[in-house]
Amino acid sequence: SSVSTPIRATLFPGDGIGPEIADSVKQVFNAADVPIEWEEHYVGDQIDPRTQSFLTWESLESVRRNGVGLKGPMATPIGKGHRSLNLTLRKELNLYANVRPCYSLSGYKTRYDNVNLVTIRENTEGEYSGLEHQVVRGVVESLKIITRQASLRVAEYAFHFAKSHGRERVSAIHKANIMQKTDGLFLKCCREVAEKYPEITYEEVIIDNCCMMLVKNPALFDVLVMPNLYGDIISDLCAGLIGGLGLTPSCNIGMGGVALAEAVHGSAPDIAGKNLANPTALLLSAVLMLRHLNIHDKAEQIQNAILNTIAEGKYRTADLGGTSTTSDFTKAICDHL
Ligand code: NAD
Repeated sequence: SSVSTPIRATLFPGDGIGPEIADSVKQVFNAADVPIEWEEHYVGDQIDPRTQSFLTWESLESVRRNGVGLKGPMATPIGKGHRSLNLTLRKELNLYANVRPCYSLSGYKTRYDNVNLVTIRENTEGEYSGLEHQVVRGVVESLKIITRQASLRVAEYAFHFAKSHGRERVSAIHKANIMQKTDGLFLKCCREVAEKYPEITYEEVIIDNCCMMLVKNPALFDVLVMPNLYGDIISDLCAGLIGGLGLTPSCNIGMGGVALAEAVHGSAPDIAGKNLANPTALLLSAVLMLRHLNIHDKAEQIQNAILNTIAEGKYRTADLGGTSTTSDFTKAICDHL
């Protein structure tokens, strides 16, 4: 990365606690001298006819142009005639994979100290294709769509991620013993991609067994790749293993190399505007964005400052059992840089 020309990235501060935790990211990035210039976009208060949503066309163009962005939590406005914000982002930016690294934070005690896994979820099809209807009264039908194209591209991303992050194993999570055609095709695609990565160990694990293994010994896993519904559930299970949504970052990968990082939690209206929010998940998401941009030195420096602040235990927000405000905790991270 060149320090002289800053890299532009889109920032959606979002709703509720979003602006407070986005401020925290801006402060930490300033303190660490990260060569990023933010293009800030807010969710509009009117429907933009070009996107059929409260997200403006300009804000989506900004992510497409920059190729990277960071998104705070968004509260989907109530009312008819618009698409949900997350659906709009997913469709318009072709966000096909959701990546969540889950690792134990030393100093924040949970049942396990040795979790270090990454879930990669297919994000466009499966049971979430939105194809449900009533056949006759009392009988409904839902179509689970699995395509070769979407399965190959998420598998490609999982192996590429494993290789570029020094990971050793990819586990495809499935239920192909029952869902023979759909999950069967998903596995076939994973196997095809695995052939191209002989240095990465490939295994297939049935979803129910996977759940048992995860709660008994999460250290058994490295990178997990799976269809949409399984990924939705397993990724939250894994977030729970390390202490919850307030700590878990994520990144959405789109066609053409777009990356939109976001915290996993919502807008927390109960604590919004009170300087109580924990900015960790959004900060660690911003770190994922830096890694996607190959700005590894700054990513490492910021990640260490966050983890050391939490490990030290002097400054912690209320959700982690402390009494610090968002700004005190942010200042402590800046001091650790
Ligand atoms: P939530 O995640 O906002 O809140 C659940 C609980 O966790 C609350 O008690 C909240 O105070 C706490 N919490 C969440 N994040 C926290 C943080 N960073 N620091 C400290 N405490 C935190 O979930 P919800 O209440 O179900 O949803 C509220 C709104 O957020 C809804 O409008 C929902 O649609 C939206 N939402 C958006 C996203 C997103 O944009 N990706 C995700 C989930 C929910």
